[in-house]
Amino acid sequence: MELLLILLVVSATSVLLILNLKFRKKKPAKLETLPAPFKKLLSTNVEFYINLDLEDKKFFESRVQQFLSRIRITGIKTSIDDLDKVLIAASAIIPIFKFPDWEYINLNEVLLYPDAFSETFELEGEGRNMLGVVGTGPYQNLMILSRQELRNGFFNKNSTKNTAIHEFVHLIDKTDGEVDGIPEVILSRQYILPWLQLVRKKIEQIKEGNADINPYGATNQAEFFAVVSEYFFEKPDLLQSRHPELFNMLTTIFKHPAKNKKN
Ligand SMILES: [Zn+2]
Repeated sequence: MELLLILLVVSATSVLLILNLKFRKKKPAKLETLPAPFKKLLSTNVEFYINLDLEDKKFFESRVQQFLSRIRITGIKTSIDDLDKVLIAASAIIPIFKFPDWEYINLNEVLLYPDAFSETFELEGEGRNMLGVVGTGPYQNLMILSRQELRNGFFNKNSTKNTAIHEFVHLIDKTDGEVDGIPEVILSRQYILPWLQLVRKKIEQIKEGNADINPYGATNQAEFFAVVSEYFFEKPDLLQSRHPELFNMLTTIFKHPAKNKKN
């Protein structure tokens, strides 16, 4: 009898322990507070944030704060202000918003150049046609963005382009070790083949001039993924009506409807 009692107590304790562990696991992480001026900048400049409900807005703010406390942002021959910081962080959070534990493990610092730069990161002279880049080799864990282009991506409401989001999508793609247009870390195995088939079909359409997708997306699979992701987050409704198959696949990849709730 005594043994039975002990057994009962032991099993009841372990049940409680397990329940407690499960409960703790489910408990959301503490949200970080974003300073009020930064919130204001989000709510006047970032459409994606504006269209979130109140709870998601708080979560977005917390992640912007986390990003800014971990990633260094440095202005090169330009000063940087709060708006630059907020726009860079927003560009980072938008594509991985539905992945609550995501961290850009392959990024330490973002360098902000005043405008276009060359392939050797020169700000003067010929061949300055770069607006954003994810570093490789000695520039590993570094991203370079044009300040002018960063702002264009958010200020031009009619565009399907956003260079900063484009570069962060390259980083997401790079997490599995290769920038190849197949984001294996976030895309389940069963979707890889259908995704690649769709990518090839769409690249052909771009080359034939039959798609309203930035022709730069036809460069290769990686550029295609980054270019259509910009379109997906900038103009989801338009993408859905013109390229429903692509819209559905990107919804699967980013686990986000990316729909503009107000329109
Ligand atoms: Zn690119």
